[in-house]
Amino acid sequence: MINRKEIHDAWNEVVQAWKPVWQGDNSLELWVAFMLHCDRLNALARQQGLAALGSALEPLLSLVERLDEPDVAHRAEVDRLLPGVLAAVRTACGPAPRHDATSMSAEEEGMPLIVVLSDAPDLLEELLMQMEHFGYALKVFSDFRAGLLFAQTRRATALIVELGAQIGEAATSAVQQAREFGIPWFAMSGYGNFALRLQAVRLDAQGFFLQPLTATAIADAIDPLGFAVRDEPYRVMIVDDSVTVLASVQRALSAFPNLNFRAVRQPELVLETLLDFTPDVLLLDFHMDGCTGLEVAKIIRQNKAFESIPLIYLTSETSEAIQLEAMRHGGDDYLTKPISQAQLVNTVISKAQRYRSLRKLMAEDSLTGLYNHVKTKALLQHALLQGERQGHAVSYAILDIDYFKRVNDTYGHTIGDRVLRSLARYLRQHVRKADIVGRYGGEEFAIVFVDATVEQAKERLELIREGFARIYHTYDEGIFAVTFSAGLAQYPTYPSMMDLMVAADHALYAAKRAGRNQISCA
Ligand code: GH3
Ligand code: MG
Ligand code: MG
Repeated sequence: MINRKEIHDAWNEVVQAWKPVWQGDNSLELWVAFMLHCDRLNALARQQGLAALGSALEPLLSLVERLDEPDVAHRAEVDRLLPGVLAAVRTACGPAPRHDATSMSAEEEGMPLIVVLSDAPDLLEELLMQMEHFGYALKVFSDFRAGLLFAQTRRATALIVELGAQIGEAATSAVQQAREFGIPWFAMSGYGNFALRLQAVRLDAQGFFLQPLTATAIADAIDPLGFAVRDEPYRVMIVDDSVTVLASVQRALSAFPNLNFRAVRQPELVLETLLDFTPDVLLLDFHMDGCTGLEVAKIIRQNKAFESIPLIYLTSETSEAIQLEAMRHGGDDYLTKPISQAQLVNTVISKAQRYRSLRKLMAEDSLTGLYNHVKTKALLQHALLQGERQGHAVSYAILDIDYFKRVNDTYGHTIGDRVLRSLARYLRQHVRKADIVGRYGGEEFAIVFVDATVEQAKERLELIREGFARIYHTYDEGIFAVTFSAGLAQYPTYPSMMDLMVAADHALYAAKRAGRNQISCA
């Protein structure tokens, strides 16, 4: 008779005992404590007849026995062996495999779906749980046709097909159908040779996963598909005192569904309309009643917020001298009236695109895609103003990864970067839509919980902290886990942005001092 709880508890003790060693304390006492817990788990395994668990523990026990001066290499070896023990614990008494491939839980319903076609679905059990942490629903089918049907009816975000040494018939036909349905597919194989990759590419594979398949690899490849934000329509604003020109430009642009259009006839309304409409591109008449386009341009450029908005002059001047002058005064381009539709549309769209990507570049952290430091602060300020106006609380958290330097030192900078990306992804997926997540710098992240008291924010952040700590990060030879500490503070208890950030920072240091992997409130 298996006593699940006893085994689980013993396993947890092993993990707890391992933690301080993993975090770098190499003292023999800690190793001994760890060894004792391994021993106890082993004794339980024998007592309850769990042979597989016993054999998973064996190399670990013999390693520990040989130990007189523990060093980094030993630590790495334990890291490599522990996953096998965990797998054995799970198989022996872990949660019953709860996945019925064709049903989805309420929670999964909202997640992007990935369908995996594999001849050996059992091997992917662990991956299923990991993907859930990443905010994906993963379904594995050994029956390729059933899997494909499921992918089609549930509108899967992506399909992953196991290939083996070459692309068999079942895989080929599955892949061809996926292409017909417009589902992007990825290859997965234990073989990564050129010929196989070439075959996959010819069948339009979006990517190639070398087995063993890891959650991070999948998420990295599929994130852009699953969470791609639909671009908002471009916003085009035109200032011209001629109704005829306004009408003709509007008509020319209305053929494009992805454009919003705002016309202004009185130049004195320019600033407030800019603020309200926030266009991606501004068309500006060169000669208007009472003032010139150049003058209006100067007024616009004097506002920091509109320093870089693309400005296109509309002019009937054909004189090169005038056109040059317009360009000198902060114009990005000009169009001569009468305006040809093709030219208008090309110019407007290319300028709007450039402006959008520039703005994105300026606001985004390049490693994680989160808001960068500057943008995060601007959004925090905005959230505080909104909180003040609507009379609700705003909570601000600053997170710092624990012992991150050691992650870099042990596994390398590239793996460190991957951990940063996975935390970024995890945070984004586990806060509410309105909340703001930024990379504050290095291994520090910030979250703005809008309309949340510090108690509510803490409750949510605790779940995030626990969830993230359960994610495995992989390196060549094994897996490891990472935790973070956080400090939280609430507006209006701390009434200014400065106060709030300083208070959260202090709270973070308190959390670090108190032992890390915890959240402390100011
Ligand atoms: P603590 O628990 O006290 O926070 O310890 P720690 O090691 O996390 O803190 P410390 O500030 O000493 O180290 C932070 C490390 O983060 C040092 C730096 O190399 C690393 N780091 C900062 N930015 C990046 C990055 O973009 N990529 C990677 N891989 N590492 C980074
Ligand atoms: Mg730090
Ligand atoms: Mg740190």
